[in-house]
Amino acid sequence: MSAIRYRYLILHLAVLAGVLLIAGLSQSWGLSLGAYLVVLTIWHSRHLLTLHKWLEDTRSEPPAAWGLTREGGLWRGIFEQLFRQQKRNQKLQDKLRRVLNEYRNATESFPEPVVTLDEENNIVWMNAAACHNLGLRKLDDSGQPLGNILRRPDFVEWLEQGGVRPMDMESPRDDNIKLNVRLFTLSDRRKLLLFRDVTELRNVEAVRRDFVANVSHELRTPLTVLIGYLESLADDDDPQLRVITDRMHEQTRSMRNLIDDLIEISRLQSQTAEGRVSEVNIKAMLAQLREQTDSLNDKQHKISFSCEDSINLKGVENDLESAFSNLITNAIRYTPKGGFIQVSWSRCEDGAVFSVSDNGIGIPHEDIPRLTERFYRVAKDRARASGGSGLGLSIVKHVLNAHDAHLEIISELGSGSEFRCIFPEHRLVTATSADSSQRRSA
Ligand code: ADP
Repeated sequence: MSAIRYRYLILHLAVLAGVLLIAGLSQSWGLSLGAYLVVLTIWHSRHLLTLHKWLEDTRSEPPAAWGLTREGGLWRGIFEQLFRQQKRNQKLQDKLRRVLNEYRNATESFPEPVVTLDEENNIVWMNAAACHNLGLRKLDDSGQPLGNILRRPDFVEWLEQGGVRPMDMESPRDDNIKLNVRLFTLSDRRKLLLFRDVTELRNVEAVRRDFVANVSHELRTPLTVLIGYLESLADDDDPQLRVITDRMHEQTRSMRNLIDDLIEISRLQSQTAEGRVSEVNIKAMLAQLREQTDSLNDKQHKISFSCEDSINLKGVENDLESAFSNLITNAIRYTPKGGFIQVSWSRCEDGAVFSVSDNGIGIPHEDIPRLTERFYRVAKDRARASGGSGLGLSIVKHVLNAHDAHLEIISELGSGSEFRCIFPEHRLVTATSADSSQRRSA
């Protein structure tokens, strides 16, 4: 117990004892105790009223208290404790205000637009660049839903879906300016939107993409002519010439695969998904892939297809077909003759999975995390022998990213591999009864 409280207790017990003594001596119990209670009530009420008045402005010095001791008793202790606490809170508030102001000043002078939103995407705050580059008005637009002001349908949809991945949009001020938007969750009730001018970056990317696409297209035609001549020479009876033409044929085939993959990558990068997204009938796509696979494989492997045909996908059909076909081609490439390959489309815990598994040569563990890098090949020799370009899996990754999906690779060197493309629930569509029949295996 603190000294003040201890003193208060002792004093009051002493006063009470005094009152009881007087009451006993004078034999007027009621009067003595009544007088004691009245004095006690007046004493406490007076201090309560003083406290109430002082609480209106606790910055002023604490009020005087009356007690039986020189220090002012219990009430003096209460006032001073409150005053000290108040001072501490004030200091903390001043510090917080200073930090907040520094943060605001820094964000205010940030050259790129910054907007904070509440949980319903209403504008809470914006910096000067947001006013200048996005056309927002500090006074009029604060508290308004941002989607009502930046009325770009793709932006509004992105915002409503929680802005999971950064997106590019045209500036509302000038269509020639490309902005990249990222959304950060600050707390349950606050989100931060950062806009970045990426016009120059996107222009440079477009020039690079066009250059690669043009060169690839230009190389493709003479290469096709060359392959044609080499094929006609392949029937020659001269064994020495046969060795040379076979070697040349292998190299030109690798070059054509590389060029085809480069053209495919630049196609994927230059086209946006806008307007191309539809409900993709996976059952029909697998049937088509099966036909292509049969002609490519020429009965060298045992390939089975299984499809849960009650689920379709919301996506870009050509791009998905390109990714799936890449995985099947790889399984054929990296599985020795007579091996088994299984292609399937089925439900899984997170949504649905397109899986290609084989019992081929497998992949060393240390290479698995790097497989989707451009031009990454496990062992250059085995890739060259198979005619691979090292771009196939980066095409797959690009397509999956654009469909909010991800790739899982499970592989054991010498035993086989499984490539799993996992699509989230929001990308799935229940197939209409006309499309669906029972699960089918082949
Ligand atoms: P590539 O065109 O060389 O096949 P990819 O990007 O498609 O390039 O694949 C990268 C590497 O991953 C390949 O070099 C190959 O070694 C390995 N790989 C891909 N699929 C398989 C598979 N099914 N089995 C074993 N290795 C594979």
